[in-house]
Parts: sequence; C-alpha cells; structure tokens
Amino acid sequence: MTYRAPVDDIMHTLKTAADLPGLIASGLYEGLDEETVRAIVEEAGKFGAEVLDPLNRPGDRAGSRLVDGTVVTPPGWKEAYQQFTRGGWSALPCPEEYGGQNLPGVVSMAACEIWNASNLSFGLCPLLTQGAIDALHTDGSEELKALYLPRMISGEWTGTMNLTEPQAGSDLGFIKAKAVKQDDGTYRIFGTKIFITYGDHEMVDNIVHLVLARLPDAPPGTRGISLFLVPKYLVNADGSLGARNDVVCAGLEHKIGIHASPTCVMKFGENDGAIGHLVGEENRGLNTMFIMMNAARLAVGVQGVSVAERATQRAIQYANERRQGRTASSKPGEMGPIVEHADVRRSIMTMKALTQAARAICLVTAREIDISHRAGSEEQRQAAAAKAALLTPIAKAFSTDIGCEVASIGVQIHGGMGFVEETGAGQYYRDARILPIYEGTNGIQAIDLVTRKLPLGGGAVVKAYIKEIAGTVGDVKASNRPEFGRMGERLEEAVGALAEATKWMGAMLGSNPDAALASATPYLRLFGLTAGAHYLARGALAASREAGGMPLAIPTARFFAENLLVAVPGLKEAVTSGGDGLLGIPVDALGA
Ligand SMILES: Cc1cc2nc3c(=O)[nH]c(=O)nc-3n(C[C@H](O)[C@H](O)[C@H](O)COP(=O)(O)OP(=O)(O)OC[C@H]3O[C@@H](n4cnc5c(N)ncnc54)[C@H](O)[C@@H]3O)c2cc1C
Repeated sequence: MTYRAPVDDIMHTLKTAADLPGLIASGLYEGLDEETVRAIVEEAGKFGAEVLDPLNRPGDRAGSRLVDGTVVTPPGWKEAYQQFTRGGWSALPCPEEYGGQNLPGVVSMAACEIWNASNLSFGLCPLLTQGAIDALHTDGSEELKALYLPRMISGEWTGTMNLTEPQAGSDLGFIKAKAVKQDDGTYRIFGTKIFITYGDHEMVDNIVHLVLARLPDAPPGTRGISLFLVPKYLVNADGSLGARNDVVCAGLEHKIGIHASPTCVMKFGENDGAIGHLVGEENRGLNTMFIMMNAARLAVGVQGVSVAERATQRAIQYANERRQGRTASSKPGEMGPIVEHADVRRSIMTMKALTQAARAICLVTAREIDISHRAGSEEQRQAAAAKAALLTPIAKAFSTDIGCEVASIGVQIHGGMGFVEETGAGQYYRDARILPIYEGTNGIQAIDLVTRKLPLGGGAVVKAYIKEIAGTVGDVKASNRPEFGRMGERLEEAVGALAEATKWMGAMLGSNPDAALASATPYLRLFGLTAGAHYLARGALAASREAGGMPLAIPTARFFAENLLVAVPGLKEAVTSGGDGLLGIPVDALGA
C-alpha cells in the first residue's frame, strides 16, 4: 500500500500542541502563515508518496554495497536524492544568507516525519546533513561557513557525524582518533570511526565529515576532544573540488534493518593524515557536537513517529482486507474483516494514540528550539531553550520506544503474514529497532533526563512543565464534556504521579544517585506518557470547540488516557521503590 502523509493529523498537532498560530502571530518568521505550512506539508507528502515510498522495499532488498572502495546506494536512490535537492527540501529550516528557506524547525520536522515514514533509510541522509549544518552554522569560522554551508544547504554535498569508535560508543571520553596541528593552521586527522551513517556514497560530489578527535596535549576524557571538518575531497578557495582527502570507507556493516542506509567503517589518515579544519575551539568539540546531536536526537525521535505512522497505516489497511471469524457485519456462514474484532480495534487505537502522542512531543520540542533561537528577549530564549532541553531526551527515547512497539503491533495485526517479508510490515519492525540505539541509547537519554535536565534552573524548569500539565487537567475538568470520559481524572492522577516521582528523583540525586539511575528508564516512560496525554487532551479540547474538525481527536485522547496513561501510577511505584530490590541483586548473581 502507498503511504499517505497524515496531513490533517500533522496540522492538528502543529496547531493544538505546538501552537503554530502563536508562532505565526509572534512574527518571528516573516511571511509565515497556516496556508503556507499546510501547502509545504502536502507537497512533502506528495514527494514522500510518489518518489521515496516506491523505493523503500526495493532499497531494503538491494541494500547499499561497497564496490571498489565506493558505496553504491540502491537503484533509484541517486535520482531521488537529486529530485529531493532540486525541490529545495534540503534547505527548509536553514538560514537565508546561505541559501536556506528560513522556515521554522517545527515545519521542517513535520516534513522530516514524512521523508522517514516513506523511506527511513533515505531520510537519514538529509537528517545527518542538517545536524552538520547546525553545528557548522553555530560554531564554524566565517570562512568555513561561507565555503561549506551553501553547498550543504543546497544538498550538493552531504554531511556526516563521526563520533563512534570501537572502544568509545556511549562513553565518548575514550575517543582515540588523533589530530595534529600543521603550520598552515589545518590539522591532520588519524583514526578509525565505526557505524558512520552515509560515511560514503555516490549520490553527491563531496561529503563533509564532522569528526571528533584528540590533540596530542589534550586533557583526558570529554574535556580533551576537538571537532574537525574533514571533506572527502579537499575544497579550493573558490569552492571547486581539489584532491581526494586521506579518508576512506573500509567496510559496510550488515544490519538487521535500514539496509539501504550505508553504515560505514571510516579510516582517516591511513597515509599522510586526513586534512581537517577545526570547528569551534580546541578541546571544546563535544560542546559543538552536542548541537548536532541534540538536533539529531529530536530528528531520530521523529523517525520513531514516522515508522509508527507507516506501520499503523499498513496495519489498518490489512485489518480492513483480511477476513477471519464472525463479526458484527458478517452474514451467516461468512467471515468479517478483522478490524471489526474489538481486540484488533484496541491494537489499532493503541498504535494511533501512541503515534500521535509522540508526534506532539516532538513537534513541541521543535517549536521550543525555534523560539530559543528567535525570541525577542533573552529571558524568552532561555526559557524556551530550557524547555527544549528538558523535552529532547523524552522526544528521542519515548518516540523511538513507541516506534518499535507500534511496528511490533503492526506485525501482530498481520498474523502470520506479518512474519513474512512480502507484506512489508516486517521491514518497519526491523528498521525501527535501531532507533532506540543510535544518537545516544534510550538508557543514556533517561540518564540525561534525570541527571542533567531535572536539575535545570534548580528544578524550576520541570516544575513549570508540571504546572503546565496541571493547567490542562483544570481545562479538561472544567469543560465537563461527557465524551471526554475519565480523561480529566486520569490526567490528574498522572500529573500527581509525575510530580511525586520528580520529587523523589530530586531527593535521590543528592542522597543516592544509584537509586536515581536505576529508576531513570521507567521515569522517562512515565514522563513521556503524561506529556503525550497532556498534548492529546489539548487537541481534544480544541476539537470540542470546532464543529466538524478532526473527528478522532477526542476518542484518541480519551483512549490514551483511559488505556495507556493508567500505567503511570504503576510506573511511579517502579520509580520510587522498584530500585530497592534491583540494586540489592549482586552483579555476579546475574550470571557470566
Ligand atoms: C545503524 C547505526 C548507525 C549509526 N550511525 C552513527 C553515526 O552516523 N555516527 C556515529 O558516530 N555513530 C553512529 N552509530 C553508533 C551509535 O550511536 C552507537 O552504537 C550508540 O551510541 C551506542 O554505542 P555502543 O554501540 O558502543 O553501545 P555501548 O555504549 O557499548 O552500550 C551498550 C549498552 O550499555 C548501555 N550503557 C552504556 N553505558 C552506560 C551507562 N553509563 N549507564 C547505563 N547504561 C549504559 C547502553 O545503554 C546500551 O544498552 C550508529 C550505530 C548504528 C548501529
């Protein structure tokens, strides 16, 4: 089945959760209006459905291959990429002075959902290039920006992120790649990086690698890491391409999913050293890389939404076609469509509700990042940056966890046919599995949330957020609408549990950090469910005021509150007391 971009759902979320009308009214983006945003989402939807979606399954089967030292992407990939850049899609949220379209990140994230829903392996290439653009734009020298940004923004060149080494994955403090300063101000880079997405390919003339490496006299750990821009081909002052740099793709990983996305082993400096340019200051590379990683973390969260949406669409279609068992509509002696079975309907609503909750969390995070860059006052910018920082690990981890869960439910709805590659449901399940792992595993996201984000502003940032959700509880209760069912009560219980669990975390961070770390993952889930319910409830409130719009907004929010949010009080117990027994189990009792 062909992918259909959920334009109405995306627009509803943009308006009711991410407050698109407020962003438009703020005047921070000149000429932005709702019709333009809708037109962009619709056009992106057409491109996704007509160009990227048809390549998804053939790309999975063909995979990317390493041929004579160059990565060859699946048939049709290069042409699709060229169409993508000709359409200006690589430039959406980028600064105008370098050829970008100056659109809000929140609109670009809506488009990002569409690229990745129609073709996750393809979507990764522009996703990482965007992260590299952000890092370079924020911390690159004027010369580097002038030379590289216009070509990366136009999509003529792509970008990569080279962090991981065999001994340094989650803990980047152990990076060994070396950088040696040259008399002309450039650096020579030596070392091996693994798992580098789109580290090499033939779709463009040049690839801009952002590489973490260590100077000879650098302090140990994360304070001694610098960031370098290392092009595949050296770039002359006029932008033309020079000699091949000393960087090669030495191998491709064989993976369980995203087969078309090349995951490369990259060798830097096998000969004289790869020529690199410092981005930002020496030994402060991780700070700049975090700009790239935060943008990429949110975008990976959006990938979770994408795969969930795609798996849901396919499951719904199958559930309408497949006939098994007696159902309400089946005539005597005939079977009815499985969508009519209550258990299948529950599965489909679970898929829809989780997807929409995750979409809302991601788009709200994107909007806060926009405000943090553009708001008129420093105070507003800082408040938005703090809220985005709080929500980023939740956007990444909650959305990618639900991406896997929803893709798994999608396989289940297909029964045995879900386990057979032919239906395509299995590809989403395989593709989704990387999402909780890369861009910082979801375990690391949970630790980031608890140890770095909860203490922001002395706890004031999370308190303000909890207060915001409490406001929604008040609005839902005051609306007194019978079709909301127990939404208000459930949300009230959840926000109470979130407040209690947050307080407990605050106390543990000071007195027993191990207990806080042991509970970080259930805490993040609790937070994600509550935040998601809050945004769905706001969407339901808006729908209840509008005649005829979004018929499923209220039932979805109600289903979420009455069926999924009810896990939150239980998760609070796991957070506040589940670690006691866990930490008592000796490590060697787990087995060797
Ligand atoms: C397909 C693919 C594409 C990728 N693309 C890129 C890319 O473009 N660029 C790049 O640089 N990297 C990339 N990566 C690497 C990816 O980011 C890492 O795999 C990821 O960060 C985890 O590192 P690791 O694999 O070394 O796992 P490890 O760090 O060894 O982690 C193993 C497990 O231990 C847990 N763990 C580790 N440390 C802690 C801790 N302190 N506390 C609690 N739990 C912990 C983790 O959560 C995880 O569950 C990619 C990986 C894959 C598979």
